[in-house]
This record gives sequence, C-alpha cells and structure tokens, in this order.
Amino acid sequence: MNWTTDEIRYMEEHAGEGAAAIAEHLNRTVISVKVQASRQGIFLTPRWRCPNCGCLTAKPLNAKTGWCANCTMEARREQIAKDVRELEDEVARRERNEQARQALYSKKSRLRKKLRENSPNQ
Ligand SMILES: [Zn+2]
Repeated sequence: MNWTTDEIRYMEEHAGEGAAAIAEHLNRTVISVKVQASRQGIFLTPRWRCPNCGCLTAKPLNAKTGWCANCTMEARREQIAKDVRELEDEVARRERNEQARQALYSKKSRLRKKLRENSPNQ
C-alpha cells in the first residue's frame, strides 16, 4: 500500500513519538513505518516531552527536575533570585541593627560626658 502525502507529513510531524506510535495512528506496521521513514530521510529520533512546559525536546529530561533544559534553567534562575532576595533582606536587617547600635552608643557617650561636665567635684 502506497503512502499518501498526508501520512508522510504526519510521520514527519510526529517523528519524535517513535515508530510504534506512528504505526498505530496510521494503522500500519512498525516495519512499514521504519522503512518509509528511511526512504523519506525522516529520523524517528526519540524525543522527550517536558511535563512542565509541554515542549518536545531532543535532549533527555533533567534527572533532578524531570523537566527540559530550559525549564530546569528557569527553575535554577528563580532559586538564585530567591537566594539573592534573602541575602539582601539579611544584609539590610544587619545594617539597620548596626545603625541603631551606633546611634545608641553615641547617645550613651554624650549622656555620660554630660554627667561628668555637670559634676561639681570634677
Ligand atoms: Zn520544559
């Protein structure tokens, strides 16, 4: 049975799903799909679908995140941005504490000096 242009186009568009899935959809044998793919120069390369963004990728999904490279990179970037915000908060808090401490220390020194100046015995 000859292949129609629609079938060949379907095979091209779904090459990443593998021969078995294409064969099932087109109601052809897996061998027939593989032979036709090779005749048409279509590589039935394995592709992975990212569960996060839904894209098909030629690279295996990241073992840690289970996502594609771009989603993994975005997640990593968001994590770094969160770390930066936390560090900024910590530094700002420390600076506020340091300023408050210095202000209190200066006030304490001024008050002590004042006490000494006002003392009649010195
Ligand atoms: Zn993704």
